[in-house]
Amino acid sequence: MPRFFENVFIGAGISCLAAARRRRGDSIVLEAAARPGGLCRSERVEGFTFDYTGHLLHLRRPRVRRWVRRLLGDNLARHRRSAWIFSSGVYTRYPFQGHFHGLPPRVAAECLLGFFEALQRGRPGRARDFASWARAQFGAGVARHFMIPYNRKLWTVDPAELTLEWLDRFVPRPGLEQVVRGALEDVDDAAGYNACFHYPRRGGIESLVEALARGLRLECGQRVTTIDLQHRRLRLAGGEEIAFGNLASCIPLPRLVRMCRPLPDSVRERAGELRWAGVYNLNLGLPGPAPARHWVYLPERRFRPYRFGYASNFSAALAPAGHHAVYVEASYRGGRRPDRRRLRRRLLADLAAAGVITSRRRPVVTCELDIPCAYVIYDRRRTPAVRAIRRYLEQRRVFPIGRYGRWEYSSMEDALWQGLQLAERLA
Ligand SMILES: Cc1cc2nc3c(=O)[nH]c(=O)nc-3n(C[C@H](O)[C@H](O)[C@H](O)COP(=O)(O)OP(=O)(O)OC[C@H]3O[C@@H](n4cnc5c(N)ncnc54)[C@H](O)[C@@H]3O)c2cc1C
Repeated sequence: MPRFFENVFIGAGISCLAAARRRRGDSIVLEAAARPGGLCRSERVEGFTFDYTGHLLHLRRPRVRRWVRRLLGDNLARHRRSAWIFSSGVYTRYPFQGHFHGLPPRVAAECLLGFFEALQRGRPGRARDFASWARAQFGAGVARHFMIPYNRKLWTVDPAELTLEWLDRFVPRPGLEQVVRGALEDVDDAAGYNACFHYPRRGGIESLVEALARGLRLECGQRVTTIDLQHRRLRLAGGEEIAFGNLASCIPLPRLVRMCRPLPDSVRERAGELRWAGVYNLNLGLPGPAPARHWVYLPERRFRPYRFGYASNFSAALAPAGHHAVYVEASYRGGRRPDRRRLRRRLLADLAAAGVITSRRRPVVTCELDIPCAYVIYDRRRTPAVRAIRRYLEQRRVFPIGRYGRWEYSSMEDALWQGLQLAERLA
């Protein structure tokens, strides 16, 4: 007889851990990797701790904020963001569209005039794709110097292919006064969704995972391979079968769909329409102190990565004394693994060109991390496909949650929130 659990969670990402924590007794979490946490794990290498790129907690919902505080106790610090853009050879404050001060006068004037023209023309609400929206909202200068090249790098597709569904929270829209002030002087106003953030004092972001996973029935090294929806059983790579009442999953949605039987052609085809970008993440341990910045966007085409950050400025414990930790991120088309050696060489050269690596600050430690599924692509086919797939699965009491289960652009807080909501639904 197979083991039976009322609630089976596939994947120990923080969304499933949060839900399982609230359900407890009647639940099991099955995780393919050797330890839980998914993208919220932290790797320890020679005294450094590296996350899968920057993983900062933006806690907007009071209930989640209280819960995270309870889970982490005194191991949680609050920071005021120090985010920058490096372009035209200078550092300017984030968001680019509100801080033209410091740019070469020709570029600043182009951005400011473009913004005035856009304001005069109005009607960004009519735009249907991100590229047109960015031009209508911010003007040609901001579109040319930041919005279009940065988003092309991040998503790996032409921004004209992107819808507007994802941007509400992620793209700040400063008003006329802010833009003018930010062009005339250096204004430190910390606008946008991530003006403040929380981060563990010790242990990297994985300390949140450790707190969530404590006391749960969790089996690691258990890869789910197939799901029989009719007989409500799943099979593990080792051959064991497990029977379930409800099933929840935070693994990437197309992968979950491929495991399910029976699977109508219409659902299989929808899953085949979903596109995504992977991220190659190179982490470095460097000697000496870090500049007083948290992270830096690199919009220009001459740089392959889209962002780098000084992780040890989130928590000094991430680097040994006298050192600092840096991460750098480069996207690639989902499903097309890049040549890692070439990419690594390129990122090191780019970091040297941006002044992060110098002859005195050479890496003493490197750590490469791959995120094969990092950003889901919001093209026109994504939302109808996700809706149809979720309908099919949820009618059979299979609940996809988390950033890749829901196939969305969302945060750790959203993952925790979805876990809490699912636990209530299962009750
Ligand atoms: C580059 C990048 C930067 C980010 N930065 C931030 C940030 O600063 N702040 C923020 O709030 N969020 C950030 N996020 C988002 C954050 O990582 C996610 O919201 C969160 O980790 C999602 O967790 P999850 O529960 O959806 O599952 P995941 O973390 O995706 O975990 C899925 C789990 O499923 C397991 N699994 C896969 N297949 C199987 C199988 N067949 N059987 C069993 N287990 C399986 C995997 O091993 C993994 O453990 C970032 C994401 C990326 C990509």
